[in-house]
Amino acid sequence: MTEEDRSIFSRIIDREIPARIVAETETIIAFHDVAPQAPVHVLVVPKTAQYVTVNELAAADPGLLAEMVKMAQSLADDLAQGDYRLVFNSGASAGQTVFHVHAHVLAGALEEGTLAG
Ligand code: 5GP
Repeated sequence: MTEEDRSIFSRIIDREIPARIVAETETIIAFHDVAPQAPVHVLVVPKTAQYVTVNELAAADPGLLAEMVKMAQSLADDLAQGDYRLVFNSGASAGQTVFHVHAHVLAGALEEGTLAG
């Protein structure tokens, strides 16, 4: 993969650009979205850049997907009151802009007309 092909999330994972990181394991990182669309809006991102969509991830590594879901619950417990929405935009016409699979964890009152509304 060339330098230009690396996603913005790979650059956050490698600490090349800053982010407000809230959780990290050997395989996953979570940080606040730079443009939040809910009071709590955190992105849960596998460190591997191998998968673009949640379907690809589910087919190839369901355990890693389950780890992401577990982290989402833990973040919602810590940052909100335990309830949350989990959004995966899959494909450009569905709103995906970063082609490195990631989950949006949205909690609190959600604004109208957002990716979660
Ligand atoms: P998508 O549209 O691909 O589902 O979600 C990509 C998300 O990444 C968007 O909600 C966008 O605000 C967020 N994002 C894009 N660039 C950055 C960045 O440099 N830092 C952080 N923290 N979030 C970003």
